[in-house]
Amino acid sequence: MRELDNHTFRLAVAQFDQAAERMNLDPNLRERLKLPERSLLVNVPVRMDDGTVKMFAGYRVQHDSSRGPSKGGIRYHPEVSLGEVAALAMWMTWKCALAGLPYGGAKGGVQVNPKQLSHAELQRLTRRYAAAIFPLIGPDKDVPAPDVGTDPQIMAWMMDTYSMQVGYVVPGVVTGKPLSIGGSLGREEATGRGVVDVTLEAMRHLKLDVQKATVAIQGFGNVGANTARIMAEAGAKVVAVSDVSGGIYNAKGLNIPELLTWYRANGQTLGSCTMGDRITNEELLTKDCTVLVPAALSEQITEANATKISCRILAEGANGPTTLEADQILTDKGVFIIPDILANSGGVIVSYFEWVQDMQRFFWNSLDIRDRLHEIITAAFHRTLEFSRQRGVTMRMAALISGIDKVAQAHLVRGLYP
Ligand code: NAD
Repeated sequence: MRELDNHTFRLAVAQFDQAAERMNLDPNLRERLKLPERSLLVNVPVRMDDGTVKMFAGYRVQHDSSRGPSKGGIRYHPEVSLGEVAALAMWMTWKCALAGLPYGGAKGGVQVNPKQLSHAELQRLTRRYAAAIFPLIGPDKDVPAPDVGTDPQIMAWMMDTYSMQVGYVVPGVVTGKPLSIGGSLGREEATGRGVVDVTLEAMRHLKLDVQKATVAIQGFGNVGANTARIMAEAGAKVVAVSDVSGGIYNAKGLNIPELLTWYRANGQTLGSCTMGDRITNEELLTKDCTVLVPAALSEQITEANATKISCRILAEGANGPTTLEADQILTDKGVFIIPDILANSGGVIVSYFEWVQDMQRFFWNSLDIRDRLHEIITAAFHRTLEFSRQRGVTMRMAALISGIDKVAQAHLVRGLYP
């Protein structure tokens, strides 16, 4: 499909094809699962503070809903495209199935740099985008959440816009909301906590000592910053972090609590940070470390830099950070890869908890959330590890096959309508 053609979509489909081939997937299903079930393109008019009206392209793509309502974040980024959103939606389908959540996969996005909008413009854009995708979303249909460039405040505006349209409060229409309107304890840190949970399991499996481990993290937003904090709390030495403005490195370990305080006080950018030696994003990826965590955008680890990567574990906090060629190079080098659909599933797992709490109007404490997240994500890790050893496939292939197989079973038993 020409409209979807983009490098990230090609990566998602190539991964799917490899898994489908390996598992001998029914050819009819194979064609069907390659394409999203439903895609919506909207053009969102926004009145800017100077009185002019600007148009922004927005998307919502539902890849599959055979196992339940579709679920997936909303990305605000200038390079968002239909193909990228469709790729991210497909990964959400496999991710939810792998974790055993009763959800399909979706994703949304708006082509915008949110940092260039005022607070009021961001609110108007969000509300108009939410109104434009209103026919598709709902707690039993499709449930958005935050992703790159969006946050709990944006989720609150989406929830409010939806609730005003239907005439009553619907907290379960989005997850990642502030606590005051039905958000969940532990959701903000969930993806980072999940990354750490599975990395610690991988270390145990590889007999690595966390106290001696060094960690480099690309991206210092929701996923990167929480991963850094929780890794440091677990006893690992976080030696390098970066964001879009570059990064910092200290072989002795960065003081993460101090760095987080500095970061909040300095406009949430690492641009002028001198708490370590200045490094580029490219240098961060090739630093010698035990664990490398890409937690920014997709296709950061490529054929061009994979040979220079020097880590024991690659824990994919970001979605699709590794190209097909780089994946092969790292596998040949013996890097233990915890694939994205497993490593970063903590976010959607706690989103699921939030949705369940909203539907039941009954809220859990933070210990419940942490324990249940740990239980689900470590069980998924061990199932994937076991599968990969039994079948002699990589962790990525094991995770993809397990996720795709659950979706295939749902399709086969439901049959093709009409
Ligand atoms: P975010 O917007 O909070 O942070 C993104 C970070 O990446 C920022 O620090 C930004 O400066 C940095 N960045 C952007 N472009 C960069 C570049 N070219 N080079 C280096 N750094 C760059 O986003 P997030 O929610 O932390 O998401 C990060 C990744 O994790 C994305 O791939 C997202 O899809 C994935 N993810 C997020 C969640 C979640 O719950 N937020 C869940 C699963 C997966």
